[in-house]
Amino acid sequence: MLRVGINGYGTIGKRVADAVRAQPDMTVVGVGKTSPDYVAERARALEYDLYAPAERAERFDTAGINLAGTTEELVRASDVIVDATPGGIGAENYPLYAEHDTPAIFQGAEEDELVDTSFNARSNFEAATDAEYTRVVSCNTTGLCRLLTPLEEAYGVEKARVTLIRRGGDPVQSSRGPIDDILPDPVSIPSHHGPDVKTVLPDIDIDTLGTKVPATHMHLHSVNVTLASSPEPEAVRSRLAEESRLFLIPEGVGVDGAGALKELAHDAGRPRGDLWENCVWEESIAVEDSDLYCFQGIHQESDVVPENIDALRAMFGLADREESMRMTDEALGVGLTLDSASRPRYAADGQ
Ligand code: NAD
Repeated sequence: MLRVGINGYGTIGKRVADAVRAQPDMTVVGVGKTSPDYVAERARALEYDLYAPAERAERFDTAGINLAGTTEELVRASDVIVDATPGGIGAENYPLYAEHDTPAIFQGAEEDELVDTSFNARSNFEAATDAEYTRVVSCNTTGLCRLLTPLEEAYGVEKARVTLIRRGGDPVQSSRGPIDDILPDPVSIPSHHGPDVKTVLPDIDIDTLGTKVPATHMHLHSVNVTLASSPEPEAVRSRLAEESRLFLIPEGVGVDGAGALKELAHDAGRPRGDLWENCVWEESIAVEDSDLYCFQGIHQESDVVPENIDALRAMFGLADREESMRMTDEALGVGLTLDSASRPRYAADGQ
């Protein structure tokens, strides 16, 4: 059993903790928190051992929340740390992990230079073999890598151009915006997402444009890929449908946006309404000569979660790519279909 510590128990960390716990070959040592808030209370309710920096211990004591130890003790007790702290804090934590020879996975907001490799399971699983420090790329980059890799394999990618219509913040991030605006973000082109894709897929030619809108549910990608060949749209649909982490939204089922997708996830009994898959509108897949077009929705809070699990297996040689992705998908229930979505979990209880 791989002993995994999760440092940073927010949007990503809490999901990664639950995902690790669901796997047959790894276990959660505990989770690192800095504040004794409702999230810490919930972590304890889920029977996760809590750890905090030594200088914060008194706050937890005052709040009556028991700590299992300090963050340093969590690092010592773990075979590997998944650092899910806010951007830049991972780099500050790096020396602590290095001091204890504890390998670590960082998240998308950390710099590529911090780690041995940036990671996406479908695109470069093998690059993390024996890596001490790995970075699971951001939600948007993950979504782009998952789509571009099968297109590159099947048809060749000459050039990708993607406009990212990004949610202003996650549902809990009440301080973020815009509230009533549409922003080019960044105004300069390309946005960082294209170069970030290249940390995983160095040979892909890609330009990205970023925007931000007043939404919290998901990101939307408007995709144009010039292929090296001219496949029929139906062939592309069939090819993409084979990918377990791409959900092709069938035509005519009324899923007209991110709100409906989130509703579908909740109806399907997904924990926290998570959508681990890229959600590609099937009827948006069009090919004009060799230019492919489509729209895809990316659930920023959860698509990187299966990737963190696969990165753990890759780093410790626990499975090859196919086996790891299969195990992860099976344990979490990745592979949304309308069939599975229309079969509520509580049906088994006869309710
Ligand atoms: P978050 O703010 O929701 O959670 C971070 C948690 O870390 C918080 O609970 C915070 O209190 C805690 N924390 C802060 N400093 C800490 C420290 N020194 N030690 C331990 N814990 C500390 O952030 P998030 O959205 O989960 O993002 C984490 C990482 O995941 C970032 O790199 C981010 O870019 C990446 N990511 C986020 C999203 C997203 O949409 N939320 C998607 C993909 C990747």
